[in-house]
Amino acid sequence: MSVRDRIGDAIDRSLLGRLLFDSPISWLGYLYATAVGLTWGFIWSTGRVERRAGLFVFRGMPARTFGRGGSCVGQCYLTDQNVSDDVLEHEAVHKRQWQRYGMVFPLLYLLSGRDPLRNRFEIEAGLEKGGYR
Ligand SMILES: [Zn+2]
Repeated sequence: MSVRDRIGDAIDRSLLGRLLFDSPISWLGYLYATAVGLTWGFIWSTGRVERRAGLFVFRGMPARTFGRGGSCVGQCYLTDQNVSDDVLEHEAVHKRQWQRYGMVFPLLYLLSGRDPLRNRFEIEAGLEKGGYR
């Protein structure tokens, strides 16, 4: 486990983490992120908006409006055409991470590093299903 992941783990298990995560506060953060995702998706998507795997899936997004193959923001998944069942299963785990951590999630995600093969949130979501292996 890397130093960054140890820090993330320590935050997770700290009193603050136990109070904040999976709490009404993180839920509000999740709802806020979902509102941002819905707004961003409705602005940029050119395809159909679908409900799949518990997500609002926005397709036909221009490449510059999301990261890598697609981005999960709260309950929204923003992508061009990267919408296989496996990928959506992977993104549904990210949705769950948003619910648990709320607006702290992006910070913890960055802390875990940009390399998806070593990022604990990508590993938890499944590297193969996410198309990283
Ligand atoms: Zn992922």
